[in-house]
Amino acid sequence: MVEEKQHQSEKYPESELYRIRHSAAHVMAQAVVEMFPETKYTIGPPVENGFYYDFDLPRTLTPEDLEKLEKRMRQIIAGRHKFERQVLSAEAARQIFKDQPYKLELIAGLEQGGFDEYGNPLDSKPEISIYVHDSFTDLCRGPHVEHTGQINPSAVKLMNVAGAYWRGDEKNKMLQRIYGTAWKTPDELKQYLWQLEEAKKRDHRKLGKELEIFVFDEEVGPGLPLWLPRGGVIIDELEALAKEMETKAGYKRVRTPHLTKEDLFIHSGHLPYYAESMYPPMEMEGVKYYIKPMNCPMHHKIFASQPHSYRDLPLRLAEYGTCYRFEKSGELFGLLRVRSMQMNDAHIYVPEELFEQEFMAVIDLYHKYFEIFGIDKYIMRLSTHHKNGLGKKYVDNERLWLKTEEMVRRAMDNGGVPYHEVPDEAAFYGPKIDVQIWSVIGKEFTLATNQVDFAQPERFNLTFINKEGQEEMPLCIHRAPLSTHERMIGFLIEHFAGNFPVWLSPDQVRVIPITDAHNDYAVRLANQMQVEGIRAEADLGADRMNAKIRHAQLFKVPYMLVVGDREMADGVVSLRKRDGSRADGMPVGEFIALAKGRIATRSREL
Ligand SMILES: [Zn+2]
Ligand SMILES: [Zn+2]
Repeated sequence: MVEEKQHQSEKYPESELYRIRHSAAHVMAQAVVEMFPETKYTIGPPVENGFYYDFDLPRTLTPEDLEKLEKRMRQIIAGRHKFERQVLSAEAARQIFKDQPYKLELIAGLEQGGFDEYGNPLDSKPEISIYVHDSFTDLCRGPHVEHTGQINPSAVKLMNVAGAYWRGDEKNKMLQRIYGTAWKTPDELKQYLWQLEEAKKRDHRKLGKELEIFVFDEEVGPGLPLWLPRGGVIIDELEALAKEMETKAGYKRVRTPHLTKEDLFIHSGHLPYYAESMYPPMEMEGVKYYIKPMNCPMHHKIFASQPHSYRDLPLRLAEYGTCYRFEKSGELFGLLRVRSMQMNDAHIYVPEELFEQEFMAVIDLYHKYFEIFGIDKYIMRLSTHHKNGLGKKYVDNERLWLKTEEMVRRAMDNGGVPYHEVPDEAAFYGPKIDVQIWSVIGKEFTLATNQVDFAQPERFNLTFINKEGQEEMPLCIHRAPLSTHERMIGFLIEHFAGNFPVWLSPDQVRVIPITDAHNDYAVRLANQMQVEGIRAEADLGADRMNAKIRHAQLFKVPYMLVVGDREMADGVVSLRKRDGSRADGMPVGEFIALAKGRIATRSREL
């Protein structure tokens, strides 16, 4: 919880780490320019966990170069050179960077307004400034540390070199991007490097295959995962959890088709704007049909199919809906970026006066899930509109924008929910909340987006009769706390490193007979547990006992029960848990009670 609070009070661009990393990027650029005086340098911003700088160099960098650069950076750092800022005219800046064509291009952008010194779009016309330290000068608006000595030389590391096109455009020249990382202390650096190593081991693409959870098949197509039986179990458990929680929270379940006429998406406004994220239409009997990229319009139709009074609201329609979105092949990534997805979707139709309470109930649901999965670091990002975008990027209704944004802020503040506010990033039809979560090793995932929507209810003419007997438009909350199965399971595999809690484990119990003579007893035990709702299996294979144990360990089965003569005679089991702990001679009934308890409470304990 402490970490959340820090996150709330400190925005990254205003943090000391940001200044350290930005300053380290300048120091690195100085070292590169010294190594290759003909260097043309471009931009070097801080990024999450570090920084980079893109260079146009006479030759390709080698790992040895990085070592030399790192060494030189430490010398520059030791020099305690001051970072000094100067504001200047475009003409003066052009003089300074006359041999730096990329900088000249950036200066032109700054001079004309509309772009910052990284070439990113900007609302206002910025001041042109440079930062100078030692022998290096950069076009830069800061911020920096006071002097290079404030960068800890033992907490900086150059990580790797990658190709990057100038301005991200493949028509431009390919540059060399050096990635570095910088922290306040060597311990923080060590921790970060450990996390990277651990993240490789936990990679869901690797573990998903080893644990037989999902596969991709060339003939089925990229981005379209096939869930194996073990993955199917995880999906069923997540759906059971969602249904249980949603039923308690007053949701009603609906089902909608995967296909719909073009008209629906024209009506919703997704066509033509969203067309490039949709699969192309198919035509039958002269009518165009689309495969759905989202469930919302169908839920709106369900709402509209019946008259509603204020007594029926909030109406919460839930569905694990399957959607298809087109993602470019190059952007697909394991389960985290896919083309077919099963979404923990729901749309809540709520009168304005009940909005805050309903919104907090949704946030509460998130917290319950976070508790179950042991997610203790998260942040919600509230994206709001910008006046200039009204009628273009955003629905032209300033009153409702201001009102709904204020309602969300108040709900978050009153509920003590940590959040950042990001202006000018909202969805077309209302403010949205992006939920970022961190796995136990500190890897960040975007879990889901919650949206407040006042545009779709209007488009679909959704109304209810209020207490005064008049027609009123409800607000709509789009929410998906468990995200999609694809994204959620991708996260969970890495979060637990495949060691799922008992309730979520595809295999819960493996009974391992010591010899063939104990097979019958093993089968009887497994059957007894299956009847009790435990996923148990007896391993009757030809392998020796030790090989069977290793196999169960490989699949990260929470409980192994080894049975031989003694166990058979006494009606007991020898329990070996996944974490290596053991209990010999445990009465069968006692073990079953233990396992059932863990499952029923969705405990993370073994
Ligand atoms: Zn800079
Ligand atoms: Zn929706």
